[in-house]
Amino acid sequence: MRPDLAVVNAEELVTLQADDGSLGIIENGALVAKDGRVAWTGSTAEFKRKSFAKPKKLVDANGKLVTPGFVDPHTHLVFAGSREGELERKIAGESYVGILSGGGGINRTVAETRKASRARLVAEASGRLEQLVRNGVTTAEVKTGYGQSLASELKMLDVIKSLDEMGPIELVPTFLGLHAKPPEFKNADEYVDYAIKTMLPEIAKRKPAFSDCFCEDGVFSGEQCTRYLRASRAQGLALKMHADEFADSGGASLAAEMGCTSADHLGKSGRAGIEEMAKRDVTAVLLPGTSLYSAIGYADAKMIAGTGCSIALGSDLSPNSWIESPQLVMMLACSAEKMTPADALRGVTVNAARALGRDDIGRLSVGEKADFVVHDLPSYRFLPYRVGGNYVSAVFKEGREVYSPQLD
Ligand code: ZN
Repeated sequence: MRPDLAVVNAEELVTLQADDGSLGIIENGALVAKDGRVAWTGSTAEFKRKSFAKPKKLVDANGKLVTPGFVDPHTHLVFAGSREGELERKIAGESYVGILSGGGGINRTVAETRKASRARLVAEASGRLEQLVRNGVTTAEVKTGYGQSLASELKMLDVIKSLDEMGPIELVPTFLGLHAKPPEFKNADEYVDYAIKTMLPEIAKRKPAFSDCFCEDGVFSGEQCTRYLRASRAQGLALKMHADEFADSGGASLAAEMGCTSADHLGKSGRAGIEEMAKRDVTAVLLPGTSLYSAIGYADAKMIAGTGCSIALGSDLSPNSWIESPQLVMMLACSAEKMTPADALRGVTVNAARALGRDDIGRLSVGEKADFVVHDLPSYRFLPYRVGGNYVSAVFKEGREVYSPQLD
């Protein structure tokens, strides 16, 4: 076999492929890729003993850390405008819900996103996408939800599709049908009816990977979300939920009952709801960056892990919490939510893939996508420890180098 690519001399090659619960680290590791997939992993010494033909491209990691590419399982990457002024209002004591009810927050982004052309949305989002890539992200979920009308939600799906086709990384589209009630609807029930009857059937034809809703007291109730999720399932869509961000609204148990792939936020969920999620294999997506921005308290990661529920970490990149660095998310997960560096790394790789229902990304095992990052760091323990700079030396998507600082 002539490899397309071989990487040698990785101080730590973190495969996340191990039966013993470890990270599957290969010291002085090597990796071989063929046709965009991982074809072999082992030590550099073993690589030299193997009789591979000369690879088309040889990367000397030169003592650096190699991890699977980061998977961001929760972003609102596509939006128009920005809301930097709200930071000052939050510092002065206004709440997220208070800003929202005054026409700010999501409502402001919806107004700007509805007005924006596809080209403007692509241009604004591609700058953020580039930052994700520079920070080691090789797959990102992207939600709609700032359109809140059939035409504008379809426009958002078009934009996500265009960005995915432009590359260099893969985007997973989610229809966030219930994000907030748009101002032209009298009440949430009317809007839920509109989402179910008018939007879902048309949206489903585009086959987004997921349908999502924001289940929270004062936003959409459990009953409204149940109706919406049932209708989404009937349209053949897999399900996600924003649950229990500000209060325990029963979102975690509803996510379990509805068979969601993931429930996200969970800052206020009680143990009973999380236990139900664990039983039904629903992945918990924690978003500690949002907890920091909105000053709403952090999820109880220890309790969640104690139930056996798998934990993924997302950026929640949005105009509310504009975070483009998985390393920063890992640092917050460790320092504020008491996750270990190993669990935080699982959270942005293999468990993030689970949160997207995927088993071909998030690990470096034979047959899976050769998505990986070379970091100028000696060990995975530095990922949540040395933050604020950028130590990404190279990003590979399906065996192809898509970013390295030297190319800038
Ligand atoms: Zn979100």
